[in-house]
Amino acid sequence: MNAHDRNLGMGRAITRRDFLNGVSLTVVGSVLAPELFRAAQPEFAPERALDYYPPTRTGMRGSHDGSFEVAHRLRDRPQRDLSGAIGTGEIYDLVIVGGGLSGLSAAYYFIRDAGRNAKVLILDNHDDFGGHAKRNEFQYNGRMLALNGGTLNIESWDRYNEHARKVIHDIGIDIDRFLATNEKNRALYRSLGLTGQATFFDKETWGVDKLMIRRTAGGRGGGARYAADDLMHTPLSAQAQRDLIRLYGGPHHEYFPGLSSAEKKIRLATMSYQDFLLNIVKVDKQVVWFFRNQGAGNFCVGVDCFPALFAWQEGLPGFSGMDLEPSPNGLLADLPGGHHGRQIGPGGGPTVHFPDGNATIARLLVRWLIPDAVPGTSMEDVGAAHINYALLDRSGQAARVRLNSTVVHVAHDGDVSKAKEVVTSYVRGGKTYRVRSRATVMACWNMFIPYLVPDLPSAQKAALAFGVKGPLVYTSVAVKSWTAFQKLGVSSVNAPTMYHTGVSLAEAVSLGDLHHPQTPEEPIVLHMTRYPMSPGKPRKEQHRVGRADLLSATFDTFERKIRDQLARNLGDGGFDPARDIIAIAVNRWPHGYAYTYNPLYDPMEWVYTSTDDRPCVKARQPFGLITMANSDAAASPHTDAAMLEAHRAVQEVLQRRAMPLLG
Ligand SMILES: Cc1cc2nc3c(=O)[nH]c(=O)nc-3n(C[C@H](O)[C@H](O)[C@H](O)COP(=O)(O)OP(=O)(O)OC[C@H]3O[C@@H](n4cnc5c(N)ncnc54)[C@H](O)[C@@H]3O)c2cc1C
Repeated sequence: MNAHDRNLGMGRAITRRDFLNGVSLTVVGSVLAPELFRAAQPEFAPERALDYYPPTRTGMRGSHDGSFEVAHRLRDRPQRDLSGAIGTGEIYDLVIVGGGLSGLSAAYYFIRDAGRNAKVLILDNHDDFGGHAKRNEFQYNGRMLALNGGTLNIESWDRYNEHARKVIHDIGIDIDRFLATNEKNRALYRSLGLTGQATFFDKETWGVDKLMIRRTAGGRGGGARYAADDLMHTPLSAQAQRDLIRLYGGPHHEYFPGLSSAEKKIRLATMSYQDFLLNIVKVDKQVVWFFRNQGAGNFCVGVDCFPALFAWQEGLPGFSGMDLEPSPNGLLADLPGGHHGRQIGPGGGPTVHFPDGNATIARLLVRWLIPDAVPGTSMEDVGAAHINYALLDRSGQAARVRLNSTVVHVAHDGDVSKAKEVVTSYVRGGKTYRVRSRATVMACWNMFIPYLVPDLPSAQKAALAFGVKGPLVYTSVAVKSWTAFQKLGVSSVNAPTMYHTGVSLAEAVSLGDLHHPQTPEEPIVLHMTRYPMSPGKPRKEQHRVGRADLLSATFDTFERKIRDQLARNLGDGGFDPARDIIAIAVNRWPHGYAYTYNPLYDPMEWVYTSTDDRPCVKARQPFGLITMANSDAAASPHTDAAMLEAHRAVQEVLQRRAMPLLG
C-alpha cells in the first residue's frame, strides 16, 4: 500500500463485506432461529438464518451483487428454457412482482379491499424489501445509527394524492406528531452555528484545492451572495467574479422583449439553463461550474439537460427582469405526476424525512401486512425495530414477501382473454420456480417488463421500453464524530466536480429510540451523492453510460474516492479519514429515478399535460390478468405516484374479479 492510501486509511478495518446471495446457505443449519430449526429444508433459505439482517450490510448496497445477474442474463438471452421450472404448488389471489413501495402498497390495497383471507405473494430480487426505499443501519459503541440508502423523503406532503395519504395514515404514520417531536432537532445545526455555505474548488478542475465558506444565508445555486472580497480568494477569473455578482445581483434585463409571459416560458422550456446562462445572460463559463449539477436532483443529469424554465421555478438567478407570471401552485407541482422541486412554491407542504428516509414507510407497510415480522405497535417504535426476516415468507399469512427471487417470466395460463390464472416464474438460489395466481401486478421497472411478459402487444412493449431510469448513488459513511463540521461552521460541503457532488450531515431527526446525535462528539452518518453524468451527451445516453459506470465501479474505487474527498473537503476542520470512518455503504442505483418527461427531449404536451399519448399511459394498460404498477407507470419520481399506480393496478384486478359477479 502506498503512503497516500495509508494516510486515507485504505487498510483500516471497517465493515465492508459485500454479501452475495447464498452466502448464508452453507451455514443455514447452524444459525437458524431455534423455532425454525426443525422445519429447516435443504433448500436456499438465507432469510431464515439468525444473522440475516440486510440493513446492516455495508460495502456495495442498492443494486447489490446477486440482485441483478439473473435479470441481465435474461436481457442478453431472452429465450429462457422454463421446462425445468419447479412448480411450488402454491396458488395465490395475487402475485406482485417487485417489493418496493409500489409493490408493498399494492399488497396493502388488495388485502384491505379483499380481506385478510386473501393470499398475496410479493417477489423481489433484492435481499431486502423496500425497493429504492431501503435503510443503512450501523452499530457503534452500542448505539444504532441509520440513514436512507435510497428514497429520501415524503416530498411535499400536502401534495400527496388521496390514495397515498390513506396508506400513510393506515400504517400508523402521523406526520404532524413526527414534525412536532422533531421541532428542536430542526434547529439543531443552526443552534450549533453550522450556518455557513461551503463550496469546494478541486485541484483537478482549478489547479488548487480551496474550500470557500460564505456566511450570508439565502440564494440558491451554490454561487449565491458571495461578496466581492470573498471572490478574490477563489480561483475564479476576474471576469467570472464580475459575472457571478451580476448574475445574482442584477440588473437583469428583459431578455425576450416583445414576447408575452407564456411565449417566454415556452422559449425557456426548450432551452437548458446552461444555454440560458451562457448565451442569454452571457456569463463566463466558469460561472456555470457552480450550477453544474443543477437538475441532477430532478433528472439525474446536470445543467445541460435542465430546462431553464425549471430553473426559474426553482428560484435560480437570472430571471428577475423577465416579468414571468408565477404558476398558481408552482409549475413543477402542476405537471402530471409532479417533478422533484414541486415542494418549492405555494402549497408545497412540508417535506418529511425519517432517519432512514422512506424505508420507515416500507417497514410500516410490512408491519401492516405481516404484523409479527416487525415488532411494535407505533410509528416511533419502528425506528429501532429489529425485523424478523424469517417471518416474511410463511404459509398461512395473508401476505408473503419472498426476497432474493428474480422473476423471469409471467404468462397467462391459456388464451389471454379467457385465462383464469397467471403463471409467474422466478429464479431463487439458482433454481427456477413457478407459482400460480388469479392475477399478477407488475410493480417492477417498466423497461424490463417486455422481457418478463413476452406476450404483450408490441406497441405496449415499445411504450414500456421508452424510458431510461436515471442512475445515481447515495453513499452513507458512518463517522465517529462531526467536530470537523462544527469547526468549519457548516452542515454540508458542495463539491461540483468531485466524484460525489458533496457531503452533508444526516438531517437531524429522531424516531423513537433512533436518536439523532445532539453533540458533535457523537457518531453520525454522512450522506454523499454521486450522479454519473457525461455532460454534453443526450440525456438517455448519459443515463446508459452512467449505469454502466455504476455497475463496473468496484467498492475499492468508491472507498478510495470517498476517503480522498472527505480528507480534502473537511481537512480544514480536522477530519482524518483513517481515524474517523467507521463504515461505508455505497447504495448504487443504476436503475434509479423513473424517467420523467423533459421538454428539452420530449414533446411539450407529455411534460405539461396528462395526455394519453404519453408512453407511460400506453405502457400501463392492463393485459388480461396482468396489471402495471410502479412509479414508472406515472413517469414520476415520487413515492405517492408509486402508490397511486399501485392503487389503480389493484383496482383493475378487483374490477376484473368482480366482472363475473356483475354478469
Ligand atoms: C436514490 C433515490 C432517492 C429517491 N428519493 C426520493 C424522494 O426523496 N422522494 C420520493 O418521493 N421519491 C424518491 N425516489 C424515487 C423512488 O423511486 C420512489 O419514491 C419509490 O420508492 C419507487 O417505488 P417503486 O416501488 O415504484 O419502485 P422501486 O422502489 O424501484 O421498486 C421496484 C422493485 O421491483 C424490483 N424488481 C425489478 N425487476 C424485478 C424482477 N424481475 N423480479 C423481482 N423484482 C424485480 C426492483 O428490484 C425493486 O426492488 C428516489 C429514488 C432513488 C433511487
